[in-house]
Amino acid sequence: MTVSALMNTYGERTTTLTKGDGAYVWDSEGKRYLDALSGIAVCGLGYNHPAVTRAICEQAEKLIHCSNLYLIEPQQALGALLVKLSGMDKVFFSNSGAEANEAALKIARKYGQSKGISNPEVITTVSSFHGRTMATLSATGNDKVKAGFEPLVEGFTHVTYNDLEAIRKASTANTVAVMVEPIQGEGGVNVPASDYLNQLRALCDEKGWLLILDEIQTGNGRTGKFFAYQHNGILPDVVTTAKGLGNGVPIGACLAQGQAAEVLQPGNHGSTYGGNPLVCNAALAATQALIDEQLIERAASLGNSMLEAFKTALTNTAIVKDIRGKGLMIGIELSKPCGELVAAAKEKNLLINVTAGNTVRLLPPLIISDAQASEIVSTVVDLILELQ
Ligand SMILES: *Cc1c(COP(=O)(O)O)cnc(C)c1O
Repeated sequence: MTVSALMNTYGERTTTLTKGDGAYVWDSEGKRYLDALSGIAVCGLGYNHPAVTRAICEQAEKLIHCSNLYLIEPQQALGALLVKLSGMDKVFFSNSGAEANEAALKIARKYGQSKGISNPEVITTVSSFHGRTMATLSATGNDKVKAGFEPLVEGFTHVTYNDLEAIRKASTANTVAVMVEPIQGEGGVNVPASDYLNQLRALCDEKGWLLILDEIQTGNGRTGKFFAYQHNGILPDVVTTAKGLGNGVPIGACLAQGQAAEVLQPGNHGSTYGGNPLVCNAALAATQALIDEQLIERAASLGNSMLEAFKTALTNTAIVKDIRGKGLMIGIELSKPCGELVAAAKEKNLLINVTAGNTVRLLPPLIISDAQASEIVSTVVDLILELQ
């Protein structure tokens, strides 16, 4: 064993992944795993998708990077495609999810300042996850990830998720925006009431607040629509995404419409790498493949059948508290902590995740076959039954 030079941010890691193909990855010992996690909702097209690989190689031969001081063709094309798919007006590209949220929060603050609010406040929710930078950490509704990093950034109020009254009560004259995930990912795949986003939209309209949706995990087809808010037929003022956008290249996006799209002006924001030619060409190919291969519709139907299969197999299982999700974002909440299931699944050649301590989280690639979906269901069911 060599001593690792890396900081211990991820705890002990025992498996080295060295290659992938479709929904499978291999470790350095040659063992093959069916991947029901996709690098945490990143590789929606699976591994080695030919269109993405080609886009990366072709762009690398032309121009990997140039400054945002110049026009970038794949960035313009990706921006236009995302605007069309989302119904938003404008986009800013970043390198990660947290940075996309930073852009959204800067929009909220400057929007508030422009209305004469000198101490703008953003309402976010308990059990939310918005990132690890200082502002997004402060926005996050999980005390564990914040501990030790005080002083936090001011101007955030946390309220119960899926509770509109809580937002009304917590709001003040300084409130400028509400920021939520359409389904809380890290918080346990928490699915709100089906009209929660509609009610939020109406409340934000009534009060003149921006509705900011963090779709870093739920975006890019994951829940069976390109963005999860499209299930509700609403438009947020600002939406952020990242994970599934580039199928593995680091890219994030903050999209905005209406007034919010005009808030950031020259000099207000920027990023050296954000939206560079390489990542944009990859994300353009990945997004186009989602559409060409009808993977968003596929996520919706396959997600439904997997959810039904879990419900049928686990209805009378005492340890199972809830089975929930949308599209290929599925959570199975157990009545006790179940972190050990990750290693047990690995033994059975399956990669899964446990979040919020007691919730098995499945985020398989959108390209999985019916047989692979059945294999995920039967293996996870066995693992849970063995835990009883
Ligand atoms: C992963 C995630 C983030 C943070 O994204 P990074 O790319 O890790 O910075 C923010 N919000 C949500 C909902 C996420 O799932």
